[in-house]
Amino acid sequence: MIMHEVLIVGGGLAGLMAALTVSASADVAVLSKVYPTRSHSGAAQGGFNAALGEDDSIEAHIFDTVKGSDYLGDQDAIEVLCADGPEVILELERMGVTWTRRADGGIAQRSLGGAGFPRGCFAADFSGHVVLHTLYEQSLKRGVKVYPEWHLLELLVEDGGVAGALVYDLARARFEVIRARQIILATGGYGRAFSKTTNGHANTGDGMAIAYRTGAVLSDMEFVQFHPTTLYGTNILVSEAARGEGGYLRNTEGERFMARYAPEKMELAPRDVVARAIFKEIKEGRGFDGHYVHLDLTHLGQALVAERLPQVRDLAIRYAGVDPVSVPMPIEPAQHYSMGGVRTDVWGMTTLPGLLAAGEVANVSVHGANRLGGNSLLETVVFGRRVGKKAAELIQQEPSPNLSRETVRRALEPWNALLLSRLPDSPQADSTFAVRREMTTLMTNQVGVFRTGSELEDAVARLGQLKARYQKLSPPGQAKPFNYALMDYLEVGYLLDLSEIIARGALARTESRGAHYRLDYPLRDDRNWLHHTFARRGGEGPELSEGSVAITRYQPQERGY
Ligand SMILES: Cc1cc2nc3c(=O)[nH]c(=O)nc-3n(C[C@H](O)[C@H](O)[C@H](O)COP(=O)(O)OP(=O)(O)OC[C@H]3O[C@@H](n4cnc5c(N)ncnc54)[C@H](O)[C@@H]3O)c2cc1C
Repeated sequence: MIMHEVLIVGGGLAGLMAALTVSASADVAVLSKVYPTRSHSGAAQGGFNAALGEDDSIEAHIFDTVKGSDYLGDQDAIEVLCADGPEVILELERMGVTWTRRADGGIAQRSLGGAGFPRGCFAADFSGHVVLHTLYEQSLKRGVKVYPEWHLLELLVEDGGVAGALVYDLARARFEVIRARQIILATGGYGRAFSKTTNGHANTGDGMAIAYRTGAVLSDMEFVQFHPTTLYGTNILVSEAARGEGGYLRNTEGERFMARYAPEKMELAPRDVVARAIFKEIKEGRGFDGHYVHLDLTHLGQALVAERLPQVRDLAIRYAGVDPVSVPMPIEPAQHYSMGGVRTDVWGMTTLPGLLAAGEVANVSVHGANRLGGNSLLETVVFGRRVGKKAAELIQQEPSPNLSRETVRRALEPWNALLLSRLPDSPQADSTFAVRREMTTLMTNQVGVFRTGSELEDAVARLGQLKARYQKLSPPGQAKPFNYALMDYLEVGYLLDLSEIIARGALARTESRGAHYRLDYPLRDDRNWLHHTFARRGGEGPELSEGSVAITRYQPQERGY
């Protein structure tokens, strides 16, 4: 059995920031199912928000975030996010992050959606990549133990607290138990529940689903962000930075149609508003080939695109066959971000003793019903650092949890049996792939940008049928190295659990707020719905309940842009 004081599951920005923080005072290990520098954080382009500008203020950042969240964000958590922002940006700089500079040498900042000031700190349009590599280098330097391509499968509970993890080493095809005094989940989002998503293949919500199965509370799962600008066909993200640097959205008539939906902020309205506007234009017949609109950078000039948006240009040339310097890009909205997640307090503590969480897997909640561009990367480093501090503190205060042989034996038994199982001799009628394809298409078509009660009801019923089909599949067990078929099978199981919670939450919430838009209930309803949705695992699937929203400074107002 392997032992560590603190075990972090996830090698993205949240996990590595937590690891670095813990490493100052305790033994810490990072488990990551993909090599850490391949975590989805590395794909982030746009930037990290922080109120560094002379005219900007932490107060303004708090207000923009509360308003952006459609008043569902917890204001005590938002205060922490915004107040810690400037300090963390400078800490990252001291670690070696090469932020893009202004002519006078200061850290440059760009406009991102829903912000009153240019607030996004960036490194060209490789922001996530640059910070991820810096944190990884620093982690290695400080002796953080890394288990790459090891998968968390189960959290082991003893006396009501989490005391260890059952994990799978993909290369050696072996199960291991890791004992730890505190476990931090930093496993990212579940974008792969949708057929149209900007998320990497690893974003299958493992940590959320495993925490839920272990008894943790998930919160606000019905709030799913759809990014307005992804390349038509592949759904590769075109960063909000493209609009932040001055890009226009145009329909078939050449019109900057955002004037109709957000006359003040135009293209830089929050994502929920822009994504719905694009769908509406397409639906009303002003989309190209009936499917997409244009993101036009042709007026920006080659020099600016080369300096500030080199990756956007490269991706458009490679994957859409257009050079945005001279031709507008075809774009459509797609799933992008998980607002909901494992419920935590402002220190990352979940409802289960011994288990903490930070980053996209967690719901603190700083984004409420809609996240602003640049606030997620900020969340990973601010709350990664906090959760690391908390874990280091807890191991000083709390006794080491017990983990009995019996618990370990019982947990390992079915998994070891799986490795000895034989694949069926004859071809099967059903497959993980078929279930996955139906689930992701269903989620995009019926639990997407526009939702209705009847479509959601149908989605819940069909997800139930998909779960039943999934349970009948034979797991591709076999003890062979790099058995991705087994991982695929397990991931589809996580995504089915989460999809069910998302769809049920969306069906229950009979209002429209932030990214959750019900055509049959188009208005926000503060009287009945100004509360979080909590989901716990029950005997018959998820049980939903209400949680109160922390309102410290700003009473809900109408949200216009
Ligand atoms: C294309 C794209 C661009 C974005 N751009 C921006 C931006 O400009 N600004 C912004 O604020 N936000 C942006 N976001 C959102 C932001 O990047 C993410 O929310 C954030 O990086 C998530 O970081 P994380 O550390 O929580 O998780 P991730 O970076 O997703 O890392 C998750 C980690 O968990 C590990 N893991 C998962 N499951 C398991 C398991 N079962 N066992 C072991 N390990 C596991 C993975 O290996 C990985 O290391 C973007 C997102 C995308 C998809």
